[in-house]
Amino acid sequence: MKTQDDIIIKKVPQVSKKCPNCYVHIPLNVEICPWCKKRVGMVDKHGMATRRVDWMSYIICFLAWLALGLYIKFAFFS
Ligand SMILES: [Zn+2]
Repeated sequence: MKTQDDIIIKKVPQVSKKCPNCYVHIPLNVEICPWCKKRVGMVDKHGMATRRVDWMSYIICFLAWLALGLYIKFAFFS
């Protein structure tokens, strides 16, 4: 005879997450994958770690384009 406890799927606390870059199991509390050295976020419901947005890369990219634009402006239009 089935009781209520058999029907309810017991929530097992996750002890590891999967790196979204190299699919290696890593501990939940690490922020940088020890295998591929990429930043990883919190674990989602599938046990995968979420990707962190790398804001510094966006800022560096923006500044590089800005510098290029200013260089062209001063080199050719002044
Ligand atoms: Zn990795």
